[in-house]
Amino acid sequence: MSSSKKVRVRFAPSPTGGLHLGGVRTVLYNYLFAKHHGGEFILRIEDTDQKRFVEGAEDYIFQCLEWCGLQPDESPRHEGAYGPYRQSERKHLYFQYAQKLIDDGYAYYAFDTPDELEEMRKRFKSSSNPTPQYDQATRMHMRNSLSLSPEKVTEMLGVGTPYVVRLKMPENTTVSMVDMVRGEVSFETGLVDDKVLLKADGMPTYHLAVVVDDYLMKITHAFRGEEWLPSAPVHLLLWKYLGWEKDMPQWAHLPLILKPDGHGKLSKRDGERLGFPVFAMDWADPNTGEKTIGFRERGFLPDAFINLLALLGWNDGTEQEIFSLEELITRFSMDRVHKGGARFDFEKAKWFNHQYLLQKDNESLAKMIQPFIAHNGVSADQEYLEKVVGLIKERCHLLSDFWTQGHFFFEAPQDIDLKTISEKWTPQKQYFFSTWAESLTTINDWNHQNIEQNFSQQMAESGLKKGDVLLPLRIMLVGGKYGPGVFEIIEMIGQEQTRQRVSIVLEKLKT
Ligand code: GLU
Repeated sequence: MSSSKKVRVRFAPSPTGGLHLGGVRTVLYNYLFAKHHGGEFILRIEDTDQKRFVEGAEDYIFQCLEWCGLQPDESPRHEGAYGPYRQSERKHLYFQYAQKLIDDGYAYYAFDTPDELEEMRKRFKSSSNPTPQYDQATRMHMRNSLSLSPEKVTEMLGVGTPYVVRLKMPENTTVSMVDMVRGEVSFETGLVDDKVLLKADGMPTYHLAVVVDDYLMKITHAFRGEEWLPSAPVHLLLWKYLGWEKDMPQWAHLPLILKPDGHGKLSKRDGERLGFPVFAMDWADPNTGEKTIGFRERGFLPDAFINLLALLGWNDGTEQEIFSLEELITRFSMDRVHKGGARFDFEKAKWFNHQYLLQKDNESLAKMIQPFIAHNGVSADQEYLEKVVGLIKERCHLLSDFWTQGHFFFEAPQDIDLKTISEKWTPQKQYFFSTWAESLTTINDWNHQNIEQNFSQQMAESGLKKGDVLLPLRIMLVGGKYGPGVFEIIEMIGQEQTRQRVSIVLEKLKT
């Protein structure tokens, strides 16, 4: 491509389900590249496979991009000059190109029925060819415009025989390209089957549509996951056969995101197995009812999510790990995208989120944790939440941790580690705690300093030491051996709650 062209990149998802973090990383690299070069980022919905259509999936993609703050410049919801941006609405555009390919001898009509295709797979199956394809070895044994006479083909088309259009893959040819990530890549065409370009219902397949649309939408650089590399020879040939080679985008096949052990592509199932999200946001499959948790609902901040994704396959050559979106735009360059797969490490992902949590002020964090608190059936006002946030944010990696680390600020603990208390329990302690709890009403100015002072004084009077009473007190208030300073907790939950929590445990210890 000539360097004077305006950079135009596209994310081209098929709306078939949840958005995998690898998909969001593709969006991100598209976005960073476009913004770095003052170009445009386009969202095109690739919905030509109607059988795979899933209700709500397109809307979900938009919501994910909005949450991540990666807004496209052109999309089905914000059309530019190259619409429509949904392939199903562009159906009328593709036929002429399939026709041109047929006229020029690069593609052909194929009339085979599903049964005939099945029969071919059985007939040609052998130990050296366990999965026969529709290709140079088999095509002349099938019913198509290469094997049948022109008269027969005209007749069949005339009576409306259903057909698909297939690409005629050349024999013994090497096609190559220079990929922005992997450098020169070559493919032997003999290994690739004759892909369907146009289906019997007149819809293009992905292969035809992606090439036609990248051309018509003036895409200059095409980023996609490495799993699309095997399709590249088909696309390269189509660009050539349609006479558009000089306008072909530069390809970048992005490295896979790997399982934590580094073996194979990270899947939704891995996330379920290992207990972490793989989709950007919660996804509920309308067909199966299956629900999959997302990074958002697990408590990730969008800017942390973006930052960690940027580093899954790229770095700027320094040790720096925390980058704002603006910094990423400035620093991003394709020559620092790795060829090798990037191993996903959930602990590291949480570390990123923790760094971002610590940078937020209490006011905004409190707003962010509201839904997580509400999710657990309690409500709290903003001012109270801000104080909670201030006390425990150091201990939290995810927004959801504010509940696990701080549930006792909102309700009395359900599980109380009585075992630990009872191991060292004495009548003296029992007496101390009951009198101390009653004395709380005498504290005039309710703050943690005064509460502590009152506690220490009574402790000293009864001859007990901090080591004897602080742990039981903590367990009475929060249920276990965790949480911020006990006197801060008491200040927050108030006199009445404190008294109640202490008496409940004292009651239990009596029995
Ligand atoms: N529609 C393809 C997908 O679902 C897009 C692949 C490409 O970007 O060429 O990922």
